[in-house]
Amino acid sequence: AIRIEGLHKSFGELEVLKGIDLNVRRGEVVCVIGPSGSGKSTLLRCVNLLEEPTSGKVTVAGTEVTDPDVDIDRVRRRIGMVFQAFNLFPHLTALENLTIAQRRVLGRDRESAERTARHNLERVGLTDKETAYPAKLSGGQQQRVAIARALSMEPELMLFDEPTSALDPELVGDVLAVMRRLAKEGMTMLVVTHEMSFAREVADRVVFMDDGAIVEEGTPARVVGDPQHARTREFLARVL
Ligand code: ATP
Ligand code: MG
Repeated sequence: AIRIEGLHKSFGELEVLKGIDLNVRRGEVVCVIGPSGSGKSTLLRCVNLLEEPTSGKVTVAGTEVTDPDVDIDRVRRRIGMVFQAFNLFPHLTALENLTIAQRRVLGRDRESAERTARHNLERVGLTDKETAYPAKLSGGQQQRVAIARALSMEPELMLFDEPTSALDPELVGDVLAVMRRLAKEGMTMLVVTHEMSFAREVADRVVFMDDGAIVEEGTPARVVGDPQHARTREFLARVL
């Protein structure tokens, strides 16, 4: 679970997050939507301290990550993150991309790291790509390897930042299908996305952000289907 209370983030004079309160319960899928520059990525990055919050409190799986004494590496290990860019190691095969952090960070031996890696490549439908290097994979396949890599660390929750927006349209479906399955399996997920059909069908809750604040949140039927605020309606009119 994630608990965000009164989160503020400024870059110099620029206030990017203006007091965010948001909870994601265990097993819940929350989709964050909103215009470019509204602070969606910054919000996600504050959850695993890729950005340091200016003020406020963020708690992940019972650990307050904004506590100055927290062991942030330990916290990050429990959070899987998937970005728009796949960030695979180009000189490593798909399988090696999945085993390296397991071995280095979790101290697993080769055999158990490979077992976990193979299991997760199977989960994302890439059993036959084990020995392929990233350059030989499509964007969608690379993104699925990146998801499998995050899953190999056995995270308690997953953060996704527009995981499909760098993909050719015909490759988006496979990645969303993997995410859909993860959601069904009960993974806790906080997902920034422009894929409104995904948000509608998979999210338990949709959060609309604008200008560093949450404008409205609720079920997809409420927020996407029957938005209450003019700013939400304007945004949806542009993306739907
Ligand atoms: P997009 O939909 O385009 O990805 P976003 O909602 O994810 O947008 P953010 O990336 O969180 O928006 O950025 C919010 C604001 O913060 C923007 O004005 C951006 O320029 C600014 N910003 C983000 N990171 C930094 C940084 N490291 N230094 C200075 N300004 C930043
Ligand atoms: Mg962003």
